[in-house]
Amino acid sequence: MWDRFSQPPGPATPEPPLAMPDLRAHRTGNTGVPYVWRFEAKGEGPHVAVVALMHGNEPCGAVALDRLLRRGLRPARGTWTLAFANTDAAAGGRLFGPAGTPARYLDRDMNRLWAGVRAEVPARGPPPVYPQGREQARVAAIAPWILTADLLLDLHSMQVPSPALTLCGRSPRARALAVALADPGWVVADDGHADGMRLIDHPRFSAPGSAAAAILMECGQHSAPAAGVQAWRGLIRFLAQSETLDAATARTLLAEANAPATPAKPTVVDVTHVIQAETDEFAFVKQFQGLERIAVGGTLLALDGKRALHTPYDDCVLVMPTRTPRRGQTTVRLGRIV
Ligand SMILES: [Zn+2]
Repeated sequence: MWDRFSQPPGPATPEPPLAMPDLRAHRTGNTGVPYVWRFEAKGEGPHVAVVALMHGNEPCGAVALDRLLRRGLRPARGTWTLAFANTDAAAGGRLFGPAGTPARYLDRDMNRLWAGVRAEVPARGPPPVYPQGREQARVAAIAPWILTADLLLDLHSMQVPSPALTLCGRSPRARALAVALADPGWVVADDGHADGMRLIDHPRFSAPGSAAAAILMECGQHSAPAAGVQAWRGLIRFLAQSETLDAATARTLLAEANAPATPAKPTVVDVTHVIQAETDEFAFVKQFQGLERIAVGGTLLALDGKRALHTPYDDCVLVMPTRTPRRGQTTVRLGRIV
């Protein structure tokens, strides 16, 4: 008779792709702004904000916030603001009836629109005009709720099946936060994008005189079930690190998720080059997935029209290569392990 522990494993059933949760239950919010929730504990503590769906086709953050809200978790001290950002893009631009296919954005990339955004609620009067479209209007609506945070986590996923990583910009405070979380195990310090400011680079979080800090977690490939698991673990560790989530509850939740109580020390990459495609013919010489370490400087990475792109130094790390880059887009970042 077969012992059940000695049986060979059966054929693995592929997990279904990570799906967008049903967001209708979260629409009302409790702030007057749809899909924005705030919970305040009696005990003093920091204001902590978590953003999901900055890009409408990245369900992992929505999966994590949906779980937090459905479980009825609340801060033990301080304040939580939980925001589903680009819900219109997540619904494929359909405001009524069944949702369409989730889109990254409808008019403009919401994570390039944060320069000059203020936390103030707009004064009463004629409704402001948002020439850049629906994302700019939504940024103005949620800004007063999240640009007042002391600590902010922005949950994203990637086009490529790269290991998860945390982007911390150039702020030493954000870098220390990402290293302290240590999950994901890669921390990437970078300058953001030439084509517009990310939320984590807003002066609220990046100015030398500010005490606030914001990080952007890239939890895995958009539809990978592991991205949902990473977003949940990252969220719990972030809330625990801020001491707004009760420590015993955090331990229980991490144990439930089979996550180690203390993750290993993370690897930190300092981005030295941000490569933009100069032509629509940009093509990598092979399919990179991200976080490869290229041992020898001068190794050919890609062709971009007549231009050849080589690694600028030995032991160069590739961060988030894009599958089908277009002219003017960031195609890959290059960095050194520090
Ligand atoms: Zn994203």
